[in-house]
Amino acid sequence: MRIQETFQADKTSISFEFFPPPNREALDELLLHIDDLASLEPGHISVTYGAGGTTQERTLTTIKAITARHDQPIVSHLTCVGSDLETMRRVLRELQAAGVMNILALRGDPPLHDHDWKSSGDHFQQAADLISFIRKEFPEMGVGVAGFPEGHPATPNRMQEMDYLKEKVDAGADYIVTQLFFENRDFYDFRHRCEARGIDIPIVAGILPVTSAKMLSRLSELAAGSRIPAAFSRWLDRLDDEESVARFGTHWAAEQVRELMDQGTAGIHLYTLNQSRACLRLFKNLGLSR
Ligand SMILES: Cc1cc2nc3c(=O)[nH]c(=O)nc-3n(C[C@H](O)[C@H](O)[C@H](O)COP(=O)(O)OP(=O)(O)OC[C@H]3O[C@@H](n4cnc5c(N)ncnc54)[C@H](O)[C@@H]3O)c2cc1C
Repeated sequence: MRIQETFQADKTSISFEFFPPPNREALDELLLHIDDLASLEPGHISVTYGAGGTTQERTLTTIKAITARHDQPIVSHLTCVGSDLETMRRVLRELQAAGVMNILALRGDPPLHDHDWKSSGDHFQQAADLISFIRKEFPEMGVGVAGFPEGHPATPNRMQEMDYLKEKVDAGADYIVTQLFFENRDFYDFRHRCEARGIDIPIVAGILPVTSAKMLSRLSELAAGSRIPAAFSRWLDRLDDEESVARFGTHWAAEQVRELMDQGTAGIHLYTLNQSRACLRLFKNLGLSR
């Protein structure tokens, strides 16, 4: 099934994102968290992919382990920076063979600290090149793309950024998943800019339930371009134990999700950071647990 079919006008689809764990032990632990979250019947589950193919094998192993236990549709993220055509073709075939019918097509960023990393090609300059490639060689696959409500750091001009996003849509994207944001008005503003630019595919809102102050301090690494609102940090400064931070962060995310659902948002994509507790609590707060 192509994921865009899960976006219906009258129901917000909720999805969960995981990253591939570094070893078998961590994968076993992750699978228990996924068991918890799969019981909430998400619209899909997505697994990230290291830029330059740095976690390619781990992404595939994680996807295979998930599909062996659950039948939720899986989206594999796929980055193209530094890849050659043959590698992309092979990876897409392997993903298809593992049952993946949907790709979140990304450019990715070259690894910052990996001095051994070598580009194997320059065919793919932007995500739009990967989308065109998938549309040409794997036309049956569903394709999502990234969007940045607060802007991508490399493109300061917001209107130009919309032109680039439109290029991805014209290349064949089915839907957009946004970078995480903490103020819904940034998402609504982005949605308006998309409408103004003639972008009319579903836009899925990326939400991170913050569960620790340490997580927030890693935000610039986790989420390029995302801003922490002053009201959010002011509250956090008043809290001195991790449990209160987790409760507050989940409450904030639940309020965001409640309003986004009321506003008819096509989908909510929850950045789980491989933990189930905050998302379970969020579903409970919203009365969505089944
Ligand atoms: C939902 C989501 C999931 C992600 N998952 C992963 C993941 O699994 N693995 C990973 O490594 N990274 C991931 N990322 C991070 C992402 O790879 C980086 O943020 C990357 O810098 C941008 O990727 P993109 O696909 O948006 O690239 P692009 O759409 O190619 O855009 C990259 C930059 O180039 C600009 N641009 C686009 N087209 C042109 C053009 N024609 N000329 C000039 N400039 C242009 C854009 O405005 C932007 O500034 C994810 C991001 C999001 C929002």
